[in-house]
Amino acid sequence: MEILDKIRILADSAKYDVSCSSSGSTRGKEGSGIGNTVPSGICHSFTADGRCISLLKILMTNYCIYDCAYCQNRISNDLERAAFTPEELISLTMAFYKRNYIEGLFLSSGVVVSPDHTMELMLRILKTLRIREKFKGYIHVKIIPGASPHLVHEAGCYADRVSVNIELPEAENYPVLTPQKTQQAILKPMDQIARNILENTEERRISRHAEHFVPAGQSTQLIIGATPTADGKILSLSQKLYDRFELKRVYYSAYIPVSTHALLPRLESPPLLREHRIYQADWLLRFYQFRAEELLSAEENLDVNVDPKTQWALSHMELFPVEINRASYEMLLRIPGIGLTSAKRIWKARKLSPITYEGLKKMGIVLVRAKHFILVGGKYYGNFALNRDYIYEAISERKDVLQMNLFQEIDRRLGLENKKDDPSKILQAARLTSALISEKQIISRSSGGEL
Ligand code: SF4
Repeated sequence: MEILDKIRILADSAKYDVSCSSSGSTRGKEGSGIGNTVPSGICHSFTADGRCISLLKILMTNYCIYDCAYCQNRISNDLERAAFTPEELISLTMAFYKRNYIEGLFLSSGVVVSPDHTMELMLRILKTLRIREKFKGYIHVKIIPGASPHLVHEAGCYADRVSVNIELPEAENYPVLTPQKTQQAILKPMDQIARNILENTEERRISRHAEHFVPAGQSTQLIIGATPTADGKILSLSQKLYDRFELKRVYYSAYIPVSTHALLPRLESPPLLREHRIYQADWLLRFYQFRAEELLSAEENLDVNVDPKTQWALSHMELFPVEINRASYEMLLRIPGIGLTSAKRIWKARKLSPITYEGLKKMGIVLVRAKHFILVGGKYYGNFALNRDYIYEAISERKDVLQMNLFQEIDRRLGLENKKDDPSKILQAARLTSALISEKQIISRSSGGEL
């Protein structure tokens, strides 16, 4: 088979894995080496659906002896197969790197012969790149579940980042959907890598010449929507992974229907909005000091119409409004619409003088959501007097919420159904309608700002 055909098949097969990101590694160019992972040498970017595009992201082979129902490379699937030899992949990586097509390599593989055999082939690629070719670029390698601990450790000595994909959030789904794997067998190498990273940190504290062990840490991937698992359970698992294994990232991949397995859902399209909300909630866990159990109970799902921080705030209205001039930094971070940068700006500015509403705008803080949850100098600037339902409706990102039933809803809430001729009620309705419409217009333009 021609190399170009192998690239076509194996790059396409790798696209379902989203657990790659090049952040966190600082391997520099030394002596006669080639490549560099420091900021100017490697950058990572993501396509609209979250796939990393700056690395050569490829499978060594899409042959696989396993039969994971949610995976297109499963043994029972009739698809075009291909395999690179280690030398082919090495020369491809070097050629692409020298032509400046890529900044690094993301290497994964189906399982051929056995987990150890596959891991050994992948290791041969890694070691040859690093030792013979003196390749200093970024390498992210997938750990094959079931591979022996010494092979896992060796991979960590040559790669910048490693990942072991959990895929299914609940252990009970494994026997049916991925019969050759268990969640325990996947958590075991993660645990080993976490311990090896800690040991390496100690070694490097004693001697700065000690070799790095996975300097960019480990990550994993969870599939969203292949099983009926609620968002609360998914976030709680992520929380445990961050706490226990100090994972750099948990990636979430909306399930792409590639199988007609009876236990997999028949989706018309991947649940991308749900995936987006889970990423936002994950951001709250990592940077906003939230715990998974604060956001959702295990059986709950995130509301796709509002971001998770707004959802949390709307169910804790007793904590609001928060006086911007007095709130703790932790509480500033919990105000919907006030992100890390805005909270820092407020914290710094108010040490000099009290903050005004105009001052907040001048700081570049987008107040569309925040104004419903704050007091500035004792004054409330929201339109709905802390009414949870009105605020929800005003800032909901679902386009049809307003259009669908705005007028009926306003009639119902103001008790207008039988009082169409009451001038005071009609005036109230007109004010509420115009407030809702202008809020919706502003929100739809500003979505995507700080959480
Ligand atoms: S082991 Fe990996 S490549 Fe093989 S079927 Fe399962 S998920 Fe797919």
